[in-house]
Amino acid sequence: MRKSIHLVKGDITKQNADAIVNAANSSLLGGGGVDGAIHRAGGPQILAECVEIRNRQGGCKTGEAVITGGGNLKAKYVIHTVGPVWNGGDKGEPQLLGNAYRNSLKLAVENDIHTIAFPNISTGIYHFPKDLAARIAVDTVKAFLNGHEGPLSVTFVCFDDENYALYESLLKDK
Ligand code: ADP
Repeated sequence: MRKSIHLVKGDITKQNADAIVNAANSSLLGGGGVDGAIHRAGGPQILAECVEIRNRQGGCKTGEAVITGGGNLKAKYVIHTVGPVWNGGDKGEPQLLGNAYRNSLKLAVENDIHTIAFPNISTGIYHFPKDLAARIAVDTVKAFLNGHEGPLSVTFVCFDDENYALYESLLKDK
């Protein structure tokens, strides 16, 4: 598995990866959706580290990423990134979503992470169109892997059937 892309359907909190990515909000103080699920499953340590980061640097801007330990999760780390809220599409949303994936991958590499799992960032409460979000996610990850030397395995974890079908069709014509 020097460099690879995988697809699974399920709950990201159950993933056995070095790092799982959280679709956080810029406060880093937790929220609903996958964010709530990660904090519930990972326990209070993750939020305590998020609060420390927030106190130090004032949260996390859209498209950026920060890292904490994985608390009680199987994953050693959680990378918290903030995807854009969909606001019609002409407010830089596609670029910002790409940044969220890219900056998460950069942070993974900096921390010697070799396996990372992503949820479908921004496609829940933030209402980014799922088909466009899937294309951006796949294109950004492929481009990053192409430009990267070391071993890195990326798994897309889809929670709903619609996202799973979109990723399945994008990844089969690799
Ligand atoms: P955002 O605010 O970035 O839209 P959400 O958490 O609302 O974040 O949704 C992002 C995606 O995560 C959605 O596609 C949602 O179905 C999915 N999701 C929700 N819970 C989980 C989970 N436990 N594991 C993986 N994906 C999840």
